Amino acid sequence: ADAPPAGEKPPAGEKPKEPTVGPAETHDFKAETKKLLHIVAHSLYSQREVFVRELISNASDALEKLRQLQTTSSDVASGGPLEISISVDAAKKTIEFRDSGIGMTADELKENLGTIARSGSKAFIEKVQATSEAKDKTSEIVGQFGVGFYSAFMVGDRIAVYTRSAQPGSEGYCWQSDGLGSYTLAKADGVPVGTRIVISVKDDAAAFLDKAKLSEVIKKYSNFVGFPIAVDGERV
Ligand code: ADP
Ligand code: MG
Repeated sequence: ADAPPAGEKPPAGEKPKEPTVGPAETHDFKAETKKLLHIVAHSLYSQREVFVRELISNASDALEKLRQLQTTSSDVASGGPLEISISVDAAKKTIEFRDSGIGMTADELKENLGTIARSGSKAFIEKVQATSEAKDKTSEIVGQFGVGFYSAFMVGDRIAVYTRSAQPGSEGYCWQSDGLGSYTLAKADGVPVGTRIVISVKDDAAAFLDKAKLSEVIKKYSNFVGFPIAVDGERV
């Protein structure tokens, strides 16, 4: 069969086609981002599940932003029905969060995922600096504040973000990082409007690759989400 045109959503239950990623440029994280990432990557196991809350909340925000935009402008690209899809691949040791929300341009990727300009992370770093640097303390703060997107590095040792902005004419991009010093950014073909986050799960976080366990955590944090959430194609 012919491949669906770029940006078209594959039928339910079918895995999206892998995008073609172009040459990547490398960018260093800012010093304070590195510091935050180090803390997050070494936080207590007991706090780790909050990455689910943070990624669902970002997906929900992105869907809400697109919905808003759609009510005020007719010139908006769409990645299909407004929804969140989560899937697990135990063999590949990956967890994916996909949303058909507003997506990000290259500049937004650099700004949003490369700096800790956002207030939550700034407050977090300040709080950590004011408290003792004891691991249990900082881990508690990670759980309370939520460090947003970076919390994916609590369970992942490599994160790939495929995204395309709903702004008409936007291209797809792939952002990748091991959460250490830098990230790469590349153009990518075949990325639908919205955002797909692929977490390569660390060996010591393999518990989250269990679908039942992951679904349980998702249910815990999905109460107030105003968009459908599916795990491996099944509505939760
Ligand atoms: P916050 O959600 O508090 O702003 P995060 O660290 O969770 O902070 O996310 C940083 C920013 O990255 C968000 O404000 C948003 O602009 C962007 N972002 C993160 N995830 C997504 C997503 N799934 N779709 C679109 N933009 C996103
Ligand atoms: Mg957030």
